[in-house]
Amino acid sequence: MIHEASPIVISGPSGCGKDTIVTKLREMDEHISLAVSATTRAPRGEEVDGLDYYFLSREEFEKRIENDEFIEYVQYNDNYYGTLRSELTRLANEGKKCVLVIEVKGAANIIARYPDCLSIFVMPPSMDELDRRLHKRASETEDEIRKRLRIALDEIKRAGQYKHVVVNDDLDATIEEIHKLIVGG
Ligand code: ADP
Ligand code: 5GP
Repeated sequence: MIHEASPIVISGPSGCGKDTIVTKLREMDEHISLAVSATTRAPRGEEVDGLDYYFLSREEFEKRIENDEFIEYVQYNDNYYGTLRSELTRLANEGKKCVLVIEVKGAANIIARYPDCLSIFVMPPSMDELDRRLHKRASETEDEIRKRLRIALDEIKRAGQYKHVVVNDDLDATIEEIHKLIVGG
């Protein structure tokens, strides 16, 4: 049977810790799963096609836009990113809670479509700490890091569109807080 459950939306500036948090949540709770997004950006580090993202060419991505395969998509930093409808139905059919880790414009579209969905903005403790984390991850060039920090300032202004804002200072405490929000504790 095909059905579409309301997804869980998690956003926050690049480098604030979203992937680290969601990876841990999935390890500790088998009912939580991540909708794999599609993107035209190049794979980074150990990223695996189909697990971290579906890495598509621009041409392929645009073909899928035309075929109405995305529930939302955006252009972020010169690349496309989008959530495939097929991911939501796949996870719903597996009985999983479907987490979308997406940026603020895509999140606004999902929240408009599912007004009752759980939405969480992960806030860095400070801009200095965000800068440190982006450098620690060492996956982008200096120029790219600077761009992401600029985008972060705009993203933080949109934190009010989310039901919850969680400051990711102590990682374990953040994971526990978000897990409680997801399981409704
Ligand atoms: P995002 O997915 O939001 O871009 P990542 O999960 O890749 O961010 O985290 C960026 C960097 O910050 C990684 O090196 C990660 O280990 C580190 N990090 C995440 N959360 C914390 C935290 N609470 N305290 C210190 N470092 C953190
Ligand atoms: P990154 O290049 O760091 O993996 O992702 C850049 C930004 O795009 C992050 O804020 C990430 O959450 C967001 N993103 C990833 N997938 C999607 C998606 O499918 N849709 C939208 N709107 N944003 C996404």
